[in-house]
Amino acid sequence: MTYQHSVDEDQCKGCGLCVAVCPKNVLEISNNVNTKGYFPAYQARPEDCIFCALCCTMCPDVAITIREIEEEAAAKK
Ligand code: SF4
Ligand code: SF4
Repeated sequence: MTYQHSVDEDQCKGCGLCVAVCPKNVLEISNNVNTKGYFPAYQARPEDCIFCALCCTMCPDVAITIREIEEEAAAKK
């Protein structure tokens, strides 16, 4: 099983809480505005993510999602 981390950039208001809480310094605030006029968070160093979910828990706008990806499903067919 592997995991996928994603930030819904248009849901994000750029508060920076997730950037501050990440223990692996994965996240940064983008220089590009989203559709609401905020500078959203993004994974600047995705290879360092340990999927601890602290950022998801911290985000007041529920903009960050971590989900499991089924790797074996295709191989069993
Ligand atoms: S899941 Fe953990 S390591 Fe990954 S970006 Fe969020 S806080 Fe950082
Ligand atoms: S905590 Fe949520 S709203 Fe704040 S910068 Fe991170 S993703 Fe955006």
